[in-house]
Amino acid sequence: MLTVRNLRKYFRFKRGLLSTVQYIRAVDDVSFSVDRGVTLGVVGESGSGKTTLGLTVLRLLEPTSGEIVFNGVDVAKLSKKGLKSFRRSTGIVFQDPYSSLNPRMRVKEILERPLKIHGIGSGEASLDSVSGVLEDVGLGEEHLMRYPHELSGGQQQRVAIARAIILKPQLVVLDEPTSSLDVSVQAQILNLLLDLQYRYVLTYIFITHDLLTARHVSDVIMVMYLGKVVELSRAHELFLNPRHPYTATLLSSIPLPDPKLKTRKRMEVVGEPPSLLNLPKGCRFHQRCPYATDKCRLEEPGFTRVGDDHLVACHYAHELSFEGFTLW
Ligand code: SF4
Repeated sequence: MLTVRNLRKYFRFKRGLLSTVQYIRAVDDVSFSVDRGVTLGVVGESGSGKTTLGLTVLRLLEPTSGEIVFNGVDVAKLSKKGLKSFRRSTGIVFQDPYSSLNPRMRVKEILERPLKIHGIGSGEASLDSVSGVLEDVGLGEEHLMRYPHELSGGQQQRVAIARAIILKPQLVVLDEPTSSLDVSVQAQILNLLLDLQYRYVLTYIFITHDLLTARHVSDVIMVMYLGKVVELSRAHELFLNPRHPYTATLLSSIPLPDPKLKTRKRMEVVGEPPSLLNLPKGCRFHQRCPYATDKCRLEEPGFTRVGDDHLVACHYAHELSFEGFTLW
């Protein structure tokens, strides 16, 4: 349903007394495909480009170059009119529900707005759609006339989800939809999202820094580091058999539920990620990778296929194995 090819999003800015032009390569040559009804989990540290990727795929940010093919149409080239129809097929849920809802609008107005913009229904029909979607996300008619500040964090996120799906989209980008919520509410929202995916046949791009959440909801996982994809695999395969040192680092940093019952090897990396303004030559991970060689410092690795639907951007993908580094 969605194929992204060589997508780049660079931010241009001027720096210093001489106004030297520089670029932040937030998303750099990213390619992937997602089938209908599937969840693609996008994981990585802050600054890895996950959110920029989600916004660019929906063309909420203009891509610098590359293709975003949605149902056979290149979204990157759409005119204003074509873009409006694409918007109807897509939705987005942000991390902080309160700041993503207009504080001066009641729930009813928030949910009616997408219907009005796309000229769908009015009066009774519009109210029926709003009531229906509100019920689908676990809220009732009593919430219709409330303002966002009169709702709990979980209820606000339910309204944000209702707004994202009221037009019955095919693709929804979920940008850390549970990270600002209490743990008990997180589980409810995750289960709601899975239930809605089944009922509405939704395709999700699920952005998160939490690997356990990604494992719970994703069919396929894409690991990003400094704007690049470093590993792409089916979720269960990635957690059983990670092949990129960075993925192994992320997995080995998940806290053990009971360290007395299970032990695990730890993968330590040195230092902080380099600045996106001053990316290293060769493999972007080489300054922190314990397996780096001269080749890594000079040559950027391409993708190596290490299994069915399992791609790894590492020169030594066939040699390195991280058995014992994960919880599974
Ligand atoms: Fe480490 Fe080299 Fe692989 Fe990069 S290419 S992840 S530096 S071993």
